Amino acid sequence: MKKILVIDDGANNQASATKSLADSGYEVVVAKNFEEGFSLLRWSHGDYEVVLLDLLMPCPKSRAGAVLPLGPEARQFEGQEMPFGFPLVFLAAMSGAQYIAVVTDANHHDHPMSAMLDPFEWLRNSGGVRLLLNGAAVKFFQYPATFPLQGTVCNKCQGTGTLRDYKCYGCYGSGNQLGKDWGMLLKLLLSDEEPCRVVPGL
Ligand SMILES: [Zn+2]
Repeated sequence: MKKILVIDDGANNQASATKSLADSGYEVVVAKNFEEGFSLLRWSHGDYEVVLLDLLMPCPKSRAGAVLPLGPEARQFEGQEMPFGFPLVFLAAMSGAQYIAVVTDANHHDHPMSAMLDPFEWLRNSGGVRLLLNGAAVKFFQYPATFPLQGTVCNKCQGTGTLRDYKCYGCYGSGNQLGKDWGMLLKLLLSDEEPCRVVPGL
């Protein structure tokens, strides 16, 4: 069975990976942080046909045997969210992945690295801008946190689905916590429109 590797440090996004990709026809492997994902990709030889990446993940702690050889000067970065999704695209392409996506649930008003993805989002409704890298198709997506996790309770509206008489913005009215809808993103990633090499309007 072909494999998908999902690298995301959010527990909700790990849960939605298992659930939303259950019928994808792929074996789903979930890496729970940058370090785990980096190790899997680094030693992969075409193990994963599809790699789905979170954009922002915490910097691992420096310690013996860590995947990044961070010295004392790098201690200041420990635990900080960093846009590891970008370099992991290149590592995934080098590892022989055929389809790669970077997916952030950070709104572009709230984080500069999410705002950086705006140019890639303009084709969202027709499947997203597809770039080719080392033979792999690469796409970037913002805030697809739309997969309701059954059995969980939205922490904004406590499960009622409404906030001050409006539909809750945290769960879109579902009352559940949301995770990234990786299944929907996989469909967009595999959609086979022609690759877009020049983004009009830039
Ligand atoms: Zn809610």
